[in-house]
Amino acid sequence: MKPLLLESLRAIVGPANVLTDGDLAGYEQDWRKRYRGRALAVVRPGSTDEVAQVVAVCARHGIAIVPQGGNTGLVGGGVPDDSGTQVLLTLSRMDRVRSIDSANLTMTVEAGCVLQSVQEAAAAAGLLFPLSLAAEGSCTIGGNLATNAGGTQVLRYGNARELCLGLEVVTAQGEVWNGLSGLRKDNTGYDLRDLFIGSEGTLGIITAATLKLYPQPAATLTALAALPSLPAAVALLQLAQARLGAGLTGFEVMGEFALGLVRRHYPQLRQPLPPSPWTVLLEQSDTESEAHARELFEGLLESALEQGLITDAAVAESIEQSNGLWHLRESIPLAQSEEGLNIKHDISLPVSRIVDFVAATDAALRAALPGVRLVNFGHLGDGNLHYNVQAPEGGDARQFLQQHEAAVNTIVYDAVGASGGSISAEHGIGALKRDELAQRKSPVALGLMRAIKAALDPNGLMNPGRVV
Ligand code: FAD
Repeated sequence: MKPLLLESLRAIVGPANVLTDGDLAGYEQDWRKRYRGRALAVVRPGSTDEVAQVVAVCARHGIAIVPQGGNTGLVGGGVPDDSGTQVLLTLSRMDRVRSIDSANLTMTVEAGCVLQSVQEAAAAAGLLFPLSLAAEGSCTIGGNLATNAGGTQVLRYGNARELCLGLEVVTAQGEVWNGLSGLRKDNTGYDLRDLFIGSEGTLGIITAATLKLYPQPAATLTALAALPSLPAAVALLQLAQARLGAGLTGFEVMGEFALGLVRRHYPQLRQPLPPSPWTVLLEQSDTESEAHARELFEGLLESALEQGLITDAAVAESIEQSNGLWHLRESIPLAQSEEGLNIKHDISLPVSRIVDFVAATDAALRAALPGVRLVNFGHLGDGNLHYNVQAPEGGDARQFLQQHEAAVNTIVYDAVGASGGSISAEHGIGALKRDELAQRKSPVALGLMRAIKAALDPNGLMNPGRVV
């Protein structure tokens, strides 16, 4: 069967685009190096029609497909298992911007477009595509939609779901659903687009998307502020929302240990403020002018200083300085990887519950695992924390992970549940959280999800073993 299947795949995409040997680690191993599988073949279709043919051939042979974009996912959802029986389908060759409609404020792009290229194409048309995250130089729009990615601008523009108006999808049967509508209103029955967004490749393959664009702001300002406590960060968020309204486009919080890891592993990066218990990165976008933006921003920071919410602040004076501040924030996950494997939690909570959650969960973890190091940072404006647990200084990170992951997850996720939160804010479920989801999601919700999976992918060939 295998030679026959490979022959059919080569006939569809060309022999050079069916990889079976050589170094396939870049496709078979996930970004965090936690999952390493073995693919029957890596297939690189160049068009929607080729994707449809590949899916149909695999369906005929009963072969499972794992779709992959930039392979930057953090939950082990985009790499094959170790059976050697799954086809890995990469969208990397499908990277064309199909069209930009400036009057409708939309653009249609293929799924393999790298996020940064999408942003650049929008900017070249004088418009803004606001999805932004640290992996934007390699992640793809297909992967962003498949995981419903969030990032740093959710506060103002929403996550990937809210930035997408239409999709083109190859179904598990190898049919093409063309739902590339640029409509903002379309109440014609069940929302198929929303079913595929966030489905992590388990229902079908996204091959193209119509995305929402926005006018470019007249000015964008960035500041770093030092804070004495986490309650001060929540109070600063409320003050900033009241003062800046929709102009507040970013509000990122960073614990001192998280920024300390950046200092340790990237000493060349300039940190303009001395270490303090918490640091916040604020971004403001203004539709009027830079002078207007600066007046509002400086007024906000002065009030915060008077109220004792911040102890110091630095406003970027140039795009380079602003990029430098964002670079600090975005270097935290990389610095953490340099420090060693860690137990990651991408959680969301009502903003009003975050302070109590962190105080109680920090204490519970420190009591259970003396010396444990807590890397806490995230998109506070969205109630999204990356609440990660690192082995004690000098400890063996891999051994720590193996021995304590289950107990740590129980402490953290029980507290998340008790606070009305979610065990996955923006990274998805993948392989990493599948069993946790099965335990923690309501039986009714799980039943509905399984019914959807069975209806759309009755033979279970689309990214099996992930999500449900
Ligand atoms: P992949 O990793 O290739 O795939 C992810 C999942 O989507 C897999 O299940 C895969 O099967 C599926 N998939 C991929 N393409 C398709 C397709 N065309 N059709 C159907 N299914 C598909 N995420 C956030 O939300 N916010 C952040 O701020 C953020 N920051 C990050 C920072 C770093 C340094 C890194 C490494 C990751 C970060 N992420 C963040 C994780 C995030 O999920 C990914 O970066 C991105 O959204 C995934 O895109 P990708 O193309 O790499 O997808």
